[in-house]
Amino acid sequence: MPQIEFRNVTKEYIPGIKVLDDVSFSIESGEFVFIIGPSGAGKSTIIKLLLREESPESGEIFFEGRNIAEITPNEMPDYRRKIGVVFQDYKLLESKTVYDNVAISLEVVNSDEEDIKNIVPNVLSLVGLLDHASYKPEELSGGEKQRTAIARALAHEPDVLIADEATGMIDPDSSDEIVEILEKINSLGTTVIMATHDQRIVDKLTKRVIKIHKGKLVSDKKGGKYRA
Ligand code: ADP
Repeated sequence: MPQIEFRNVTKEYIPGIKVLDDVSFSIESGEFVFIIGPSGAGKSTIIKLLLREESPESGEIFFEGRNIAEITPNEMPDYRRKIGVVFQDYKLLESKTVYDNVAISLEVVNSDEEDIKNIVPNVLSLVGLLDHASYKPEELSGGEKQRTAIARALAHEPDVLIADEATGMIDPDSSDEIVEILEKINSLGTTVIMATHDQRIVDKLTKRVIKIHKGKLVSDKKGGKYRA
């Protein structure tokens, strides 16, 4: 059974305008997948549908064998913790330290204090920010802010980590560092899905590339060198 499956998914925000048109793909546990396509292609919509922030007009989405349309409100928090997400604009709390930005996501679900003390340094070390734990976001570079957001996304040990244009606001060298961290996380067993319009990043790696154009899946191949 694939970990994620989109089956003939069509999405309209405005009736009659398909922003996703009959999109089908599946992703196995442990894969590293790029979703690439120009701005407006429908990449973020795929992510919103998977998170069930939006619902499709037709088609089904399965996560670990379950049709996500059937997840009940009670089950939703558990479902959402299985999928960590990082965004282009980091979404950090500016008044909190790096440590607290990560810890707070565990505190809000009443995690055990001892667990928090173990997990936070662990994930900060994974993204290479242990020595910046007491910094505030304003004292960080763009790449360091995104690494903080990745650490926060990892705090709940998600099955899948999604990066939505995660390198959109940072320079090429820092972007490469972000991708290296995502590869490391992937090598530890987490599925990674990276949505990007940045052809340079995709070309550097030999990963599976799902290409979206005007709401349609136009190719799904392994390897770089595809044009967005
Ligand atoms: P991408 O992430 O590839 O840039 P999006 O999934 O954000 O693309 O957007 C796909 C299309 O859907 C675009 O034409 C966008 O304008 C449209 N769209 C996205 N969100 C909404 C919304 N809430 N209401 C209406 N149209 C939307």
